[in-house]
Amino acid sequence: MRVAVIGSGIGGLAAAAGVAAAGHDVTIYEARTDCGGLAGAVEADGLTFDAGPYILLDRPGLEWALARLGVPIPPLDRLDDVVYEVSWPDAETVRIHADIDRTARELGPSYPAFVASMAKRYRQLTPMLRVSRPNLFTLARHGALGAAPFLLQSLAAVMKRSGLRPRAIEALTIWTHIAGQSLDAAPSPMAFVPALIHEHGAWVPRGGTSAIARALRAAAASRGVRFRFGARVTAIVAGRGIRIGDEMIEADAVISNHNAVGTYVDLLDATPRRTRERLRRLPLQSPGSCAYMRITPSTTLPYLRFRLGGDFPCRVLVARGETARLILPNSDSLDAALAEPWWRDGIERADVLLHRTPRQWGSEYTLYRDSMNVVMTKSQMRRGRIAHRSPDARGLYLAGSSTHPGQWISFCAISGVLAAEALIEDRC
Ligand SMILES: Cc1cc2nc3c(=O)[nH]c(=O)nc-3n(C[C@H](O)[C@H](O)[C@H](O)COP(=O)(O)OP(=O)(O)OC[C@H]3O[C@@H](n4cnc5c(N)ncnc54)[C@H](O)[C@@H]3O)c2cc1C
Repeated sequence: MRVAVIGSGIGGLAAAAGVAAAGHDVTIYEARTDCGGLAGAVEADGLTFDAGPYILLDRPGLEWALARLGVPIPPLDRLDDVVYEVSWPDAETVRIHADIDRTARELGPSYPAFVASMAKRYRQLTPMLRVSRPNLFTLARHGALGAAPFLLQSLAAVMKRSGLRPRAIEALTIWTHIAGQSLDAAPSPMAFVPALIHEHGAWVPRGGTSAIARALRAAAASRGVRFRFGARVTAIVAGRGIRIGDEMIEADAVISNHNAVGTYVDLLDATPRRTRERLRRLPLQSPGSCAYMRITPSTTLPYLRFRLGGDFPCRVLVARGETARLILPNSDSLDAALAEPWWRDGIERADVLLHRTPRQWGSEYTLYRDSMNVVMTKSQMRRGRIAHRSPDARGLYLAGSSTHPGQWISFCAISGVLAAEALIEDRC
């Protein structure tokens, strides 16, 4: 069977490796000149940066996906002291340590019990992260029906019951701030993050997160996957294949790693009007703005420093050796963020080598409406994820963060595995 994969982000690479392992003839059509998508590498002035991701919070999920594909997990370094710190303009700083007792000393005595209860829920709900579009029957099959009320709650409701003080809650829900969500709109499983950090660790792949894309690319290539770079797919013709401008490429099945909403709204010719309209209303996450810098540190810097409040709701400095990135989620006011003094603590000199605004991300990575995938909200969680197997076009499958409850690279890898498995199952 001939399979065309649109895009070589983590989802596309994982799907291609999975389908090729089953003996199919797979070609990846990638608009850029390299693999990895948002989780690829960026070169500037002799330095290599990760384009987007900076932390791996779901090692179990990534391990599951790579094991399913038979791909060895690249070496990962654990953040074994301070995982991240959060500061506010009034000078308060909260640190989340790898060690739970040290973290509890900063956050309060109810912290260990909160982490234990979230770890229990996480274990109960883990199978839902590894199936396509779980529903109440899936919960029942895995003996997790009792978790349904938890899943219907907002993150705000779960955190309120933790007994932690407001700033501790803000620090623990930092990823929700990054996504530009309110705690009321965010889904309850975001409360699993502290349990993941203390039970499974927070990790950074050695050589950067692009190491994961490299491992998947090598696996795909070794299974005969062909890569055509500089090939921006302009249309999916249901039942026939894809188009790149005037060129029609016949394929028996198509896997799209382009944004899922964009796949239906911009690429597929057969999308029903109502589906198009419903998808258009889904909230999307901006990649924000990012300054890639060469720095001269004057002291040992924490790897991740978040700042809340002041001129922007949230921003983060990611520092490693002589490289640093200042990331401003949901905004393109990078110059104003760079002018703030807080992130220069412990840095003697910083030179911006490259920067990216949402528009630049959009044009460089063929993003739908200059956005990453759909933001998982509490209500979207109730409605269900976008399906790996398209209900609207036979032979179309989707891989990437939209089909999973979040943007994490582990989720994208799992999504690629599930898209591949759906396709293989249909063709058997
Ligand atoms: C600033 C930033 C920070 C992040 N931090 C983290 C983090 O700390 N931890 C974490 O786990 N995740 C993080 N993420 C999220 C993570 O990087 C992404 O969700 C993930 O990499 C998306 O993978 P994907 O498979 O959905 O596809 P993408 O990365 O979007 O890749 C899609 C690929 O398809 C190609 N493509 C698209 N359309 C076409 C077309 N029409 N024709 C041909 N090719 C096409 C693109 O060029 C691209 O290579 C971050 C993202 C950003 C931007």
